[in-house]
Amino acid sequence: MSEGRDVAAGLAAVRQRIAEACARAGREPSSVQLLAASKYQSEAAIRAAYAAGQREFGENYVQELVQKAEALADLSELRWHLIGRLQRNKAKDVVRAGCAVQTLDSLRLCEALAVRATEAHVTVPVFVQVNISSEPQKAGVAIAELPQLLAAVRASPALELRGLMAIPRASEDDAETRSGFEALRELGVQHGVAGLSMGMSDDLELAIAAGATMVRVGTAIFGERPRKEG
Ligand SMILES: *Cc1c(COP(=O)(O)O)cnc(C)c1O
Repeated sequence: MSEGRDVAAGLAAVRQRIAEACARAGREPSSVQLLAASKYQSEAAIRAAYAAGQREFGENYVQELVQKAEALADLSELRWHLIGRLQRNKAKDVVRAGCAVQTLDSLRLCEALAVRATEAHVTVPVFVQVNISSEPQKAGVAIAELPQLLAAVRASPALELRGLMAIPRASEDDAETRSGFEALRELGVQHGVAGLSMGMSDDLELAIAAGATMVRVGTAIFGERPRKEG
């Protein structure tokens, strides 16, 4: 588990990388939000990040998010995002947790979320996840189906469209990664969606150069995750 000072140092280093990438791209550092991807990280590590000024946190599993949200409810300015796959039968749980959903990728999920949010009289901030590298089995709506899904989100008063989200195919080749990010930006322009959640520890500079408005960073803030992803 990371010591608090390590987390603070990790955050400072990531903020520096963001500032430098923004300077190179001629962008304001305030135009890029940092989301701390805290899956498997301890509550102490999250508290340390919060104490160092971090406010947006992303979790991959609904159960883990709900538990952490309860345990950390005293951190009143903390905002949660679900960045892992959401099953329709968990829509109620995420609505209750009050988190943003970055992985909205189907009409059926859109409808389930809208129904639950309407019942609870709340508005859920959402990002539509796009399968930008068209990988079979990968989460995200197919590019061809994006217009229909965006229309459904926009037609629902209980959902607030914040942006598009993508995880391009993992690649050693910067040019390939960059083209994934640029493809998401193009879709944003084409469909009038300003928010772009893209870029992680290894490629946040490429994402910022391509127009990311939010980068989701885990390892570079917290160090290696305590457990491997299953
Ligand atoms: C884990 C995760 C991240 C952060 O990954 P790092 O490489 O640790 O920065 C970003 N986005 C999603 C969807 C993730 O699951």
